[in-house]
Amino acid sequence: MREFELLRHIYRSNDRLDVAVRIPPGDDMGMIRFGGGDILAAVDQLVGGRHVNLETTSLELVGRKAITRSLSDIAAMAARPLCTLVAATLPPDFGEERAQELFESMRRTCERFECPLIGGDLAFHADPSHPLVCSVTVLAVPGHVPPILRSGAKPGDTLYVTGQLGGTMLEDGSGHHLTFDPRITEALMLTEMLGDRLHAMIDLSDGLGRDADHIAEASGVKIVIDAARLPRRGNASWEDAVRDGEDYELCFAATGSVPTEVRGVPITPVGEVLPGDADELPARLCVRDGDTLREAGEFGWQHEA
Ligand SMILES: [Mg+2]
Repeated sequence: MREFELLRHIYRSNDRLDVAVRIPPGDDMGMIRFGGGDILAAVDQLVGGRHVNLETTSLELVGRKAITRSLSDIAAMAARPLCTLVAATLPPDFGEERAQELFESMRRTCERFECPLIGGDLAFHADPSHPLVCSVTVLAVPGHVPPILRSGAKPGDTLYVTGQLGGTMLEDGSGHHLTFDPRITEALMLTEMLGDRLHAMIDLSDGLGRDADHIAEASGVKIVIDAARLPRRGNASWEDAVRDGEDYELCFAATGSVPTEVRGVPITPVGEVLPGDADELPARLCVRDGDTLREAGEFGWQHEA
């Protein structure tokens, strides 16, 4: 069972959630009503050898990525960062000095993106083959509008992405997946500019194919991506742009006029939202390649770093 099926299976037994749970599992963050306000929360882990190559990546960038990939989920909800908690398990030979360097990078990254590190735990594993694992919990509060969910896309909407897609995992130790800035401010500005015309949003961590499919599934719609319009990074092909993960850009569905950039970050229309019963489409998520409609699933889209 893969990650998504496994989680879905677990959440299915979750059918009697307290009314205080405002956003249940299945979005980029959950949300709970607390003390008259709402708090969003998400947890994610950075695993050495999977999300980063420790041999080619500085501890500075390892720590940075551990935090920024969680902050990207705050951006996906158009929420405001509140605070961060980190629990790390390190291999026994990692060394205290390097552990300190790693935590200092995480602390600095939290500070830079105004999501202060307010607590953490560090343990050295006894088994030398244990990988580095940083478990990062972020809390956030809604911006000036309620959080933007995955489930709000409507037929007739256009699908947009920020920035460029594909080719982020090229292993030269300086890839975009290590140095990206989470689109927190851009997401908040989009809610201001578009108001209730911004219907659904997700951050691109698993690749446009998979993540846009999450919007389609949650919203009960079909989505067609136009291969020719995909903004590609460097030498990435359109297949790479659909398949590669770790872009950490925003993908959103909106109606009406949408600006071509926000804070200098380009916004590109890449597809259209159709009714869930649009029978002319062979799958929930398709890519239009010239005259051919292809099921995006055929490119494979589970990322393995
Ligand atoms: Mg996400």
